[in-house]
Amino acid sequence: MKIEWEPNGGDRRIHGVYTLAGKPFCMHMAESREEIEFLQTGKGTWADLMFAAQIDFSGWKCFGNRPVELAFKQGLLDKDTLAVHVLEVTPREVELLAESRCGVCLCPRSNWTLHGKLPDMERFLKAGIHPALGTDSLASEALVSGSDLKVHFVEQDTNIQWRDHVI
Ligand SMILES: [Zn+2]
Repeated sequence: MKIEWEPNGGDRRIHGVYTLAGKPFCMHMAESREEIEFLQTGKGTWADLMFAAQIDFSGWKCFGNRPVELAFKQGLLDKDTLAVHVLEVTPREVELLAESRCGVCLCPRSNWTLHGKLPDMERFLKAGIHPALGTDSLASEALVSGSDLKVHFVEQDTNIQWRDHVI
């Protein structure tokens, strides 16, 4: 199966549809080292999975980038975008997220379950980003309620404001 890569094409059009509908354009990105390895080199676990699924990505022109950098280059990071996870980000990528004024949603429970790592909340707050806390999906956790996140991340720090919101 050949899946075409459309730089500045498909993703940008989908972003536009969400913007017109007044909804955030959500992108799950920079969640794992394997994702970054794939985007930077076209190799690794993700490449192996694509080969196994007979997905031909030989024509994709996304390689050589980190996830947030690639989204930025494609014009996908703006105030209407919600970047989900951003667990594996460099200081420069945090700057790009802050400069683009996009929303950030951290999914600590999912990250811990799948990758044994928690997002660096303080890093985002220092950059002027006020992240939402999400639960990701039932694909990574059996519970999609955010009530325990509130207990662990908000009630321990009185400087954090909590607002319930469902997308
Ligand atoms: Zn996700």
